[in-house]
This record gives sequence, C-alpha cells and structure tokens, in this order.
Amino acid sequence: MPHLDPEQLSLLALYDGWEDPGVREHLAACPECAADFAALRRTVDAVKTAPDTSRLAVPGPQVWAGIHRELGLSGSVREDPLAADAAKGNSAGPAAAPADAPPSNVIPVRRRTKGAWWQRPGTWVAAAAAAVLVVVGAVLTLTRPPQPQQLASAQLAPLAQHSAAGSAKVVTAPDGSRNLEISLDKDEAKGYQEVWLIAPDLSRLVSLGVMNSTSGTFQVPTGLDLSQYPVVDVSDEPMDGNPAHSSVSIARGTLSS
Ligand SMILES: [Zn+2]
Repeated sequence: MPHLDPEQLSLLALYDGWEDPGVREHLAACPECAADFAALRRTVDAVKTAPDTSRLAVPGPQVWAGIHRELGLSGSVREDPLAADAAKGNSAGPAAAPADAPPSNVIPVRRRTKGAWWQRPGTWVAAAAAAVLVVVGAVLTLTRPPQPQQLASAQLAPLAQHSAAGSAKVVTAPDGSRNLEISLDKDEAKGYQEVWLIAPDLSRLVSLGVMNSTSGTFQVPTGLDLSQYPVVDVSDEPMDGNPAHSSVSIARGTLSS
C-alpha cells in the first residue's frame, strides 16, 4: 500500500470514529505516516478545544490578519471578528449577556444568542478542518520528497515495416537528474531494442541503453542539451558487436515540452 494521502490523514485526524481498516492498518505499520498523523492530531486538538471566550485574552488584530491570509479567506470576513467583542467586553464585562438577562439587555442577548460566525460550533470544526489542511500541506512539503516533474514528452510512431507505437517522457528526479521513460505496445526487435537520443537532422546521436522489454527508464547524461537531441528512437540492433546504430528504427518521436 502506498503512503496515506493528505485527505485520508485529515479525515483520521478530524474524526476519531473514522473507520477504514486498511488505513488504520497502514498507520500502525508506517512510522512516516504515523508521524504525520501525530502532528495533525496535535493541531486538531488545539483547534477543536471549545473556546471559552470569557476567559481568553483577546489576541491582537494581527493574529486574525495572519489566519485570514494563511487560509486565503474571503474579503467578507477580513475584519477581525474579535475586535467588536473586545470593545463590548471592555465596557460591559464578559458576563454581560447571560441567557436570562433582564429586559434592558434584550438587544445584546439576541445578538449573543445568534452569535457571530466565529462563535457557532460548526465554524470551529470548519476552522479545524482548514487548519488541518494547511498543516497537512506544510508537513508533507517538509517531510516528503518532491514528486518527479515531467520536462518533455513524445509520441513514438512506428517506422517502415514496423507497427510498434508508444510514448516517451523526460522526468526530473528529486536530485535534479533526468530520466527518459519509454513505453511501447510491443517488442518488435529481431535482435534487441536500443534507445537513442538523436539530433533533428539525424547527424549526431547518443545511445541511452538497451531495452529488453516493452518499457524502460534511462538516465539522460548530465549536461546533455535535449533541444540538440530531441528525437527519441528505438532501434533493432543485431548481435554483431557493432556499437553504431543499425539504421533499422522500430519507433521514433520528437520530444516537446
Ligand atoms: Zn505510510
């Protein structure tokens, strides 16, 4: 099984009762995913804790500005939701609005009962989910190597009396090296298949190696300018000990990015 994806980790971290035996099994066996999960749980626990706003010190507006920016929230909630409450709290005190307040407090009580958006319970779950996604992204960015990046690709079409076709792509590995990945729908070589990068006018060519099956991955020489050798060629080489191209090509295509 591959590592758990961010969505699975988020669901596990957000919902204690989330049952997915395969996922739980992987989590128990994989230290890497377990570490990610533990980091997420700490975040969820921190955010999920029901806020007792009467006892909390009100954070300055820069805190909300940071949250707003980090989560990419819309402009409609740009204003610090605690700013108005802090002003209210200074004049009336945190206990100013109990549910059974006398009639003189009717208007404040209604406001309180309805609650600002950040006081409604669902909002905290959503905020927890959003925070988890941000943390998942950060954790995975820090702990997982970057995925291979595709630099160029080519469709490989059959030549002359052949019918094998397929594709080729050049991908960058995390260490910056480049690999040519080739896949054909059949192996038509009478001898063996050899993979080449060739100049557009076919005057210069670089052998990348032997391909014994219908697919293979080949290192591209460091420093080789692919724009000078954009033609991907799979040849049929006889077992004659001659290292040159046999001039019998099975399939060919030109890389483009
Ligand atoms: Zn894992």
